[in-house]
Amino acid sequence: MISGVATYIDPVCGMTVEQGAGVTLHWQGRDLRFCEIACRDTFRSDPARWVEPLGHVHALGREMDR
Ligand SMILES: [Zn+2]
Repeated sequence: MISGVATYIDPVCGMTVEQGAGVTLHWQGRDLRFCEIACRDTFRSDPARWVEPLGHVHALGREMDR
C-alpha cells in the first residue's frame, strides 16, 4: 500500500484506485471511484448488484490482487 495517498476500492473489479485516478461517481451520498469508465457504467447499470460486494470488499480489507 502507498501511504499518504487516499485509495478507493473499485466495487466492480476490486482494484485499488488512488485519489485523483480513475473516474468518480456520486451515488447515494457517497463518492465511489472506478478504475475506468467501463466499470462505472457497469455499476450504474445495476447498482444494487454491487452494493453488497462493496461492503464485503471493505470488510475483508482486501488489498493487492494483481
Ligand atoms: Zn474497475
